[in-house]
Amino acid sequence: MDGMTAEPVSVDQGVIARLKTALGEGGWSEDPSKLAPKLVEERGRWKGTTPLLALPRTVEAVAAVVGICCESGTPIVPQGGNTGLVAGQTPQGEILLSLERMKAVREVAPLDDVLVAEAGVTLAEVHKAAMAANRFFPLSLASDGSCTVGGLISTNAGGTAVLRYGTMRDLVLGIEAVLPNGEVFQGLKRLRKDNTGYDLKQLLIGAEGTLGVVTAASLKLFPRAASRAVAIAGLDTPAAAIALLERAKYESGGAVEAFELMSRVSVAFAVKNIPGVREPLGDVWPWYVLVETASGEDGAAERAIERLLAGALEDGLIGDAVLAQSEGQVRSLWRLREDLSAAQKPEGVNWKHDISVPVSRIPEFLTRADAALLHRWPGARIAAFGHVGDGNLHYNIAQPEGGDPVAFDRDRDAGAEVVHDIVAALGGSISAEHGLGAMKTAEALRYKSTVEVEAMRAVRRALDPKRIMNPRVLF
Ligand SMILES: Cc1cc2nc3c(=O)[nH]c(=O)nc-3n(C[C@H](O)[C@H](O)[C@H](O)COP(=O)(O)OP(=O)(O)OC[C@H]3O[C@@H](n4cnc5c(N)ncnc54)[C@H](O)[C@@H]3O)c2cc1C
Repeated sequence: MDGMTAEPVSVDQGVIARLKTALGEGGWSEDPSKLAPKLVEERGRWKGTTPLLALPRTVEAVAAVVGICCESGTPIVPQGGNTGLVAGQTPQGEILLSLERMKAVREVAPLDDVLVAEAGVTLAEVHKAAMAANRFFPLSLASDGSCTVGGLISTNAGGTAVLRYGTMRDLVLGIEAVLPNGEVFQGLKRLRKDNTGYDLKQLLIGAEGTLGVVTAASLKLFPRAASRAVAIAGLDTPAAAIALLERAKYESGGAVEAFELMSRVSVAFAVKNIPGVREPLGDVWPWYVLVETASGEDGAAERAIERLLAGALEDGLIGDAVLAQSEGQVRSLWRLREDLSAAQKPEGVNWKHDISVPVSRIPEFLTRADAALLHRWPGARIAAFGHVGDGNLHYNIAQPEGGDPVAFDRDRDAGAEVVHDIVAALGGSISAEHGLGAMKTAEALRYKSTVEVEAMRAVRRALDPKRIMNPRVLF
């Protein structure tokens, strides 16, 4: 039984009354219209229930809620922007603790290149605050208007700039959190060097709400680039894309900010289903790459991409390319990439796999997975795309055109097993950036070693012996 089909838990009314008193007026809600959007996840695949929405505004209020829940053994699910894609933020009877009222950017410190933000601040607000101080926060996700600092940390989010700047794990210098016993961990340091034992903040990053509630974080800032350039290229094979990536890194002096691969099927869905999206190149290509470079020097990013594309065209690595000439063209190229997921929705039932393999093994993964899936599900439409510079693909499969959606939906887990077995054989991961949530936890047990799972369980038991924090998520 996975975490989404488990029986909902029930919470004692006396505990609910104590929580309401601790949170005070405006600090909680049972209003169905306020709860409704927080109980359905992005893709509408799972619906949740909760007896109480806790809306604390301070770290002290979060500590009071967790303290009461710890003492009474009451389970809690933390939630940020509710953009998670693995049902980790959807309660099944647990108390729902939303960080939406913890919205302050507490400090921007340009000399330290640090921004301190509370958990409920959205990624777009972080970008804005960094920009106002003439700095840059590099994490970039299509959900940036809604996803929050707390959620990004708890899922160790990735996105399009990992190639150059790393995941959230690389971008956090300090964390303030309430641990499962209700105590506040004051770890809001801003040090780039601190070798004083186990790094508790790194345990909380990627913990998906199982080791405590993140209430604030200090984030790394970077200088703003003087020039940026974005281009799209058409190619015949994923192997050509990997060869182009290697060239791009050297041509730009390591300044490739994004390198995204898109299959023809995924681009065709976007052109067909998203109003305003057009074919990016004159001809149709089996594969496309969107590449972005940046530089501290005026015009240098454009020059690097021009050199890259000219050389690749001459050597036959790519067949065609366009360099964006205006901010509008940059936006429309990125829009094409960011709309690929939404473009699949009208195509019926879709299976989605967020996988990673070593970059060099991407072509082999695609050859093996495509063959295995099409052999078993002829006509399935493979809409692969993603952050190929990180070895991360969103390997999505749309049902055969005109096929039976119910039958295809029934085979979802069988399809995932085929894909994930190939990923495991190539030394990859079945969750590159979205986490495990309640959706993939059982599946992950098939691939993790007992040693690793038992070590994780021991850490969790030590910090949360009653398993109150997001109990259906992780091991
Ligand atoms: C259009 C779209 C594009 C996306 N693109 C990407 C992408 O490129 N890369 C990527 O990595 N992800 C992507 N995502 C997934 C999602 O945006 C990220 O996982 C994001 O980090 C979730 O943030 P959130 O605030 O919405 O968290 P939520 O969805 O609310 O929660 C996610 C998890 O974190 C836990 N959590 C939330 N807040 C806290 C807290 N304060 N303390 C402890 N635990 C907490 C929850 O319990 C849950 O387990 C995308 C999603 C969408 C809808």
